[in-house]
Amino acid sequence: MTVTTTADTSSPSTSAAISLRGVSKHFGEVKAVDEVDLDIADGEFFSMLGPSGSGKTTVLRLIAGFEQPTGGTIQLGGIDVTSKAPFDRDVNTVFQDYALFPHMSVLENVSYGLRVRGVARAERRRQATEALATVQLAHLGDRSPAQLSGGQRQRVALARSIVVKPKVLLLDEPLGALDLKLREQMQVELKQLQRDLGITFVFVTHDQEEALTLSDRIAVFSDGKIVQLGTPQEIYELPTSAYVASFVGTSNLFDDATSTRLFSLSGTHALRPEKITLQAADGGSEVTVTAGTIRAPGVIVESIYLGTGQRIHVQLADGTHLVVLEQSTGTAADRDQRGGTVVASWSIDDLVAVT
Ligand code: ATP
Repeated sequence: MTVTTTADTSSPSTSAAISLRGVSKHFGEVKAVDEVDLDIADGEFFSMLGPSGSGKTTVLRLIAGFEQPTGGTIQLGGIDVTSKAPFDRDVNTVFQDYALFPHMSVLENVSYGLRVRGVARAERRRQATEALATVQLAHLGDRSPAQLSGGQRQRVALARSIVVKPKVLLLDEPLGALDLKLREQMQVELKQLQRDLGITFVFVTHDQEEALTLSDRIAVFSDGKIVQLGTPQEIYELPTSAYVASFVGTSNLFDDATSTRLFSLSGTHALRPEKITLQAADGGSEVTVTAGTIRAPGVIVESIYLGTGQRIHVQLADGTHLVVLEQSTGTAADRDQRGGTVVASWSIDDLVAVT
């Protein structure tokens, strides 16, 4: 798989599956999408992540052709499709609400797109059955959508989208309506499907864990703009802004004054809770930096049992609040440490400078 870089945003890319240049969409006063430049590579699993209202769905709808941009150009496979209708674009969309036809059987739902394209009946049946087999539902072709579970309906919606072999599949929170267990199962299946088919997936989600698990690259949105674009590791380990550091996972943020006071570093810094270890207090009350390790004495003010781990809130002597994530040892004593004095320590290299 190739992953394009976005270093050169000046001219439209001819190699990218999807290429946006200066794309904006305004709804009256609202700049839903604001001058977005983006290249998505062929065969890439690309996620757009952001809070509600940040513009990710609008970008998806612009790529699909359901919305016309206020400005900018959109290319698919090197061809300008900015003014083309949705049916003239080699993309297919899977929505959160499945949008299956209730009066048609599962097989008819899946073969619908082939019928519209004039594929002969026997061939339609063959291809639709094959697509259903891909999502492990070949045995349920005769049922109606109402006779399926949510996860099965979602898989039918996927089969219906992949049967026409689009080059690009746009997925708008497709797992949003599923319960956690099904969601996790479908995440694995989606990833496998994307690998097997080699289709470019563009996935919209506000669930950061889902984006981190599934994607080759992630674009983090805020107020209609992409604020950071990178691999899941880059986004998680090296957030460039306090916004990304707190939106993707949890971060301890130290502003310029606190960073200077505690570690003699200027600028804002982010620190992941799992990078911090706690030990029994050793008497000191000052924050020290020795051989690249920061040691900060404090008091446990809250300890929350999470099953897989323990989230512990520590207050340092100067009032600074730290969130620490520790693997749970499962003992009752670990679950009630409030009031205990500890030393929090972490490597100075784990502090990430952010804006
Ligand atoms: P969500 O996760 O809630 O779907 P989102 O990040 O996908 O959010 P968008 O749906 O793209 O966000 O919306 C971006 C902004 O544009 C929001 O402020 C929204 O209210 C506005 N908006 C979207 N569609 C329209 C529309 N048809 N008319 C007016 N405003 C719109």
